[in-house]
Amino acid sequence: MISLIPDHILSAWNIYGNYAAILLMTAGILLVISYYLNLLITIDKKSRYDYINKNEIKCLWFSFLLFVIGATLLLNTLFFPTTWLWFAVRLFLSSMMTIIISVIVQNMLKFYFPFFIEKRLKKLRYSPRISADGNVMKLLSEEEEDVYLDEGMQAEENAYSVDYDVWIDEKTGVTKIEKYNGRLRALKCEKCNYQTLKVSKEEIIRPATLVEEGELIKFLICGYCGQKSRKSHKIAKLNPKVLSTD
Ligand SMILES: [Zn+2]
Repeated sequence: MISLIPDHILSAWNIYGNYAAILLMTAGILLVISYYLNLLITIDKKSRYDYINKNEIKCLWFSFLLFVIGATLLLNTLFFPTTWLWFAVRLFLSSMMTIIISVIVQNMLKFYFPFFIEKRLKKLRYSPRISADGNVMKLLSEEEEDVYLDEGMQAEENAYSVDYDVWIDEKTGVTKIEKYNGRLRALKCEKCNYQTLKVSKEEIIRPATLVEEGELIKFLICGYCGQKSRKSHKIAKLNPKVLSTD
């Protein structure tokens, strides 16, 4: 009892499925190429940092998906003639394979890949900036930089997961201020060792005053093992000089 798929149905499936498969695979390849081309023409280090931070994992994931769905479809358009039974078996098995491979890739992108990205981001963040005059700029330390940050920036830096880096051209005094969001960056989880620990909430339990330091609690949660922890941070005393500017 072997019933063949009628020729006109199978050949239509093979032809149009083939087109769709090639379209999907090409879209996947183009997506990843356009990501890296865009990165290549982004020269400014801070812009590169933001671009990678925001797009890389997402982009790799979507291009992988497009490609692998296309490849699965392609595989299912190559057999001629075939029976309904073999068609169904092949479609089922190849879809299962695709799902398994996708889960593995997704986990790698989510839990292993961030280590690799973090390393590149660190390098981008701390490699010397060049001023418009062509001089190598110097990154100021946390203590030195306060003079260059306005009151709002300092408050943000003290209270939330925000970091400002101040670069100075020592010859001309020109500064460049870059803002980094610590909330987006994942830290290493002490339980599972993956780079998946993120700030879920921040709470000021005691605001800083002129005479006393304040306290901020960061609530952290691991995206991999779900480990929860909290960290206490001191908020620097308010600076009377900054407050009295008119
Ligand atoms: Zn963990």
